[in-house]
Amino acid sequence: ATPTALMVGTGLGAENGILIRQGKAVEILREIDTVILDKTGTITKGTPSVTDVVAHLEKEKLLKYAASAEKGSEHPIGEAIVNYAESEGIELYDATEFEAVTGKGVRARINGEEVLIGNQAFMKEADVDVSADFSEQVIALENEAKTTVLVSIEGAFAGILSVADPIKDDSAQAIAQFNEMGLEPIIITGDNERTAKAVAQQVGIDKVIAGVLPDQKSEEIKRLQQQGRKVAMIGDGINDAPALTQADIGIAIGTGTDVAIESGDIVLVKGELSSVVQAMKLSQATFRKIK
Ligand code: ADP
Ligand code: MG
Repeated sequence: ATPTALMVGTGLGAENGILIRQGKAVEILREIDTVILDKTGTITKGTPSVTDVVAHLEKEKLLKYAASAEKGSEHPIGEAIVNYAESEGIELYDATEFEAVTGKGVRARINGEEVLIGNQAFMKEADVDVSADFSEQVIALENEAKTTVLVSIEGAFAGILSVADPIKDDSAQAIAQFNEMGLEPIIITGDNERTAKAVAQQVGIDKVIAGVLPDQKSEEIKRLQQQGRKVAMIGDGINDAPALTQADIGIAIGTGTDVAIESGDIVLVKGELSSVVQAMKLSQATFRKIK
């Protein structure tokens, strides 16, 4: 990196809670025209909680089976469901078999019965028949920016749980500034299109790339680069690491996973998106002057 880049980098870090891991990132920043943002943990706080339970059988049984199946899960949705069941005073079974299917859900044997919990694609693959009534409720919940997961017990549809993840306080403002600066913000997420669009609308983003399997995020970035775009990717998760590396600039959320942080050229120490705006403005100002 040039001395100027390093100097700017140091100044930025002190003032805005930004850690520049690659000095040249400060120079490249001003060329960026597209900002891809992971949804969960980047635009939202990454701390979902259960908001709705639509039971096709006794509510307590649905929660008991769903939470018992999720107990082995490390996914925030799984944690939200376990916390909710425990707050309702429900005692959980130990799973005898547990399998997490990345980007889709979990499968476990609970009290001798096979339980699946996950998205619609996961249910479809397992040939679980979700009635039209329930599909409509799923649509309504997703339009409220909630993520829905479906539950089946022994192959029979058992109900829906939805979780909501609060949006960070400064997300909308930071995104408004990206738009103002002529940068196109795009959400990328493994979540479904409706939920992603509802979140996008709340923060002022028009474009979403939804239903992306964890190993496909970097492919999506590559596709945009092949269209001639200069891409910054902002993310926090293990799944985001390859995309952070692929992007022209990878920006990791400082409260995120170690793998993401190690893959970032820039780290947002406090996890605030508005820091990116500051960095871009400074990069533009600095490198315009010395040209
Ligand atoms: P994200 O981009 O939000 O990290 P993931 O790729 O982790 O998305 O998951 C995509 C979708 O798969 C989730 O929105 C959810 O519908 C489903 N899913 C993943 N893990 C679980 C789980 N443990 N329990 C239920 N559903 C899950
Ligand atoms: Mg995330």
